[in-house]
Amino acid sequence: MSHVFISPHPDDAALSCGGLIASLRELGQNVTIITVFSGGPGADTEMTEYQRAALGFGSKAVWPNTESFDRSALEPDYPVVRTAGPDAPWLADAERIAVTQERANTQARQFWQRAAWTRSANITNEETPARPIADGVGGQGTLATTDFGAADATAIRKAEDERYAWFMECSVIDLDLPDAVYRGYEGDGELLGGARDDDHAPVEILRREILRLEPQMVYFPLGVGGHVDHQLCREVGIALLGEGRRWVMPGPDLAGRVSFYEDFPYAWWNDFTGLGDLPSEVIGLPEGLRLEARYAEIAEQMDRKAAGIRVYGSQIVRLFEGDQGMLDDLAGYAARVAAAGAVGTGAAERYWSVVRG
Ligand SMILES: [Zn+2]
Repeated sequence: MSHVFISPHPDDAALSCGGLIASLRELGQNVTIITVFSGGPGADTEMTEYQRAALGFGSKAVWPNTESFDRSALEPDYPVVRTAGPDAPWLADAERIAVTQERANTQARQFWQRAAWTRSANITNEETPARPIADGVGGQGTLATTDFGAADATAIRKAEDERYAWFMECSVIDLDLPDAVYRGYEGDGELLGGARDDDHAPVEILRREILRLEPQMVYFPLGVGGHVDHQLCREVGIALLGEGRRWVMPGPDLAGRVSFYEDFPYAWWNDFTGLGDLPSEVIGLPEGLRLEARYAEIAEQMDRKAAGIRVYGSQIVRLFEGDQGMLDDLAGYAARVAAAGAVGTGAAERYWSVVRG
């Protein structure tokens, strides 16, 4: 099975679907994230979608990608403590790390037999002349880095997207369409309002990318919270459902293959409980189709989901004020969704799947 998640911005798939993505990857299923509005200002904003596609912009598959192999900004899952003390027993202390490193050195010497061949594991990921870390040495793959101090917001967010793909072992495609803030939307009133008449949903480019990937399942944002970029992505999903079998010949039947996910954290902030909370006109499904709530049980994937969200470091403070805020909101929403779906383990994500009838 292969699954395609349509993410309006870098971070949306991780925030809303990170638990399901983690469990799909545990099952060995393929996951591709298409990030739609990952582009910034500049000359690109002058181009129409058609021009972008025609000129070869906007369909850039970036996996495997140089950035994906640069681990310098990936945080460890757990902090490494430098002093022995009354820390949790599972935390490594400096002394045990040193012992482990020494053992690795010894084993490397025994294995390689000649000093000139010896390559020992670097346990601490700290660079020393004897043990350079892989990212600092030329070799397979290139070592381009993003200067996070100097890069613009768009570059940073895309780098985070690529790191998330590396972390989750999925692929990411950045379509690089300009974010709403670069399409003339200003302030929350406009960003969270309706799309302008001249601002069309990117149906063509997404149809092409989705068809190319031939997924069994496609996930679009539901647009909870009303961000214009999320709404436009939802509209693409509805438009493609409306095309039905005219898509390709012989056409795939999209009913049963498309789901809409609840946009986190907007759904949490807005106390979203179900489709009734959306403005009535937004989900205009083609006749004969309806949405059915399905629950992904994610209790065992919560840590991984949180770690994935941390990869989007530039967004944590903006969205949650800090790491603890993120963990609290994540747990709160997962618990509420689980309660709504009577999911026993207490943590779930909800997907609104398109079914017939
Ligand atoms: Zn978003």
